Amino acid sequence: MSIAIIVHGGAGNIPDEEIDLYIAGCRAALAAGWSLLQSGASALDACEAAVRIMEDDPIFDAGTGSVLTSLGTVELDAAVMDGRTLRYGSVANLRHVRNPISLARRVLEGPATFLAGAGAEEFATRHGLERCENSALIVPREYALWQRRRAQPQTAALDHGHDTVGAIAIDAAGNLVAANSTGGTFFKLPGRIGDTPLVGCGLYADARVGGAVCTGWGEAITRLALARRAVELLERGMEPQAAADLAIHTLANSANDGQGGCIILSPDGRIGFARNTPYMAYAACVEGSDPIWGC
Ligand code: ASP
Repeated sequence: MSIAIIVHGGAGNIPDEEIDLYIAGCRAALAAGWSLLQSGASALDACEAAVRIMEDDPIFDAGTGSVLTSLGTVELDAAVMDGRTLRYGSVANLRHVRNPISLARRVLEGPATFLAGAGAEEFATRHGLERCENSALIVPREYALWQRRRAQPQTAALDHGHDTVGAIAIDAAGNLVAANSTGGTFFKLPGRIGDTPLVGCGLYADARVGGAVCTGWGEAITRLALARRAVELLERGMEPQAAADLAIHTLANSANDGQGGCIILSPDGRIGFARNTPYMAYAACVEGSDPIWGC
């Protein structure tokens, strides 16, 4: 079985001076996931490692560096889905967990499927995950954007994008796993949850068929259950690239007028990626081919 991994750093409107940072962040995540896969680690380990790197990289809207809610706090969501068992772990509304993807993995391995808020935080403490002050997740760039938006509430244009992160990997044993993590949308209502932790919306993985991870305007993605829809296109025999193109075409042309992107990986290592936003940083590596990356 060929190992493979694809990661993305969010679909949005990336300022020119930040493009290299987005690509570097994706490549670092790819390298971490790839070296684990090469050493025989599971796709679950590879996805967790890749997403953790992007959560810790302040350029992305995930973990440290996430966008702020209208109250000026950070609230994090994440999920991971195992394509062989179809088990998943989702977490939402976290304020004190530094790496939500690791908590999502603990949930996947436990009796529940989705934990949110105080219960999820308590579960994190019980499993010894690193906790932090909410303020430790806030970076000056995001605080400044929040202050400007608060001063001019009508200036929606300050929302420079959706920089959620995601990964899909196939390991040597042939399992396929999808994972993602986000701070959500800029100036979101406290308590708001987007597509990211919702299975079938922000992500879907079926080791027999393939996996998809979406990013962008979560409300529109959720209404279409876009990740499941993309995997269904693979099920019908469509190429991953054609499936990604059609999924994003559907997002853009639905009544929602949605914006976003998606990445797709088939069990035999064919990849697809598409967006209808100005940019989506990504990086991918499939055994036997050179790595690719772009924005
Ligand atoms: N989809 C995420 C959300 O709506 C945002 C993103 O992809 O950047 O929460």
